[in-house]
Amino acid sequence: MSKTTTATEFPGEIKVLIDEQKIAERVVDLASRLEKDLDQLEGEVTLVPVMTGSMLFTSDLIRHMQRPVRIAPVTVQSYPGSSTRSRGARLQTPIPDALRGTHVVIIDDILDSGGTLAVLRRLIKAVEPSSVRACVLLRKNVDHDASAVCEYAGFDIPDKFVVGYGLDYDGLYRNLPFIGTLPSDMINKEDSG
Ligand code: 5GP
Ligand code: MG
Repeated sequence: MSKTTTATEFPGEIKVLIDEQKIAERVVDLASRLEKDLDQLEGEVTLVPVMTGSMLFTSDLIRHMQRPVRIAPVTVQSYPGSSTRSRGARLQTPIPDALRGTHVVIIDDILDSGGTLAVLRRLIKAVEPSSVRACVLLRKNVDHDASAVCEYAGFDIPDKFVVGYGLDYDGLYRNLPFIGTLPSDMINKEDSG
């Protein structure tokens, strides 16, 4: 990448895919669907945000939920550095034992191959929660098999690398208030395509 960009300057070339208003509306909708389903269940609910990408989504989602919930974040890395292709999901924090016997909702920014959710579901099931479901803001429009099941998804998007609203490229752009696509000349050539 020849061009250097700092976190404080958002290059005009980033194209808006989903604007702030649309995100806000869909988050309200997701929160109400989720809460309606959780209200049918007996027992405690633990939200498990997948850091760092789901930080903004989670903070907006939980402000539209009225029921008591616990929050137990985990960190998973699958796109180290300037990668734009998954290198395989790697859990970087232990699964909290406090999930045992509670209804778990995994919250992630985006579902792509499904690898992250599959790894998390397997590890979380090992601590014997009452139930596990997943909620993502974005789902890439690719053919998903049964391992990529996700109960709640905000938007289906094309198979493009996106940034903003928590999602990064090489650590940058998480603070954009919208979801945008990076121009191909800004993406590491070895990684894209
Ligand atoms: P999966 O494991 O389903 O292939 O990918 C999910 C994870 O990969 C997400 O939690 C996210 O961290 C990362 N990811 C997938 N697609 C994108 C993308 O278009 N942009 C960014 N910034 N991260 C992505
Ligand atoms: Mg992630």
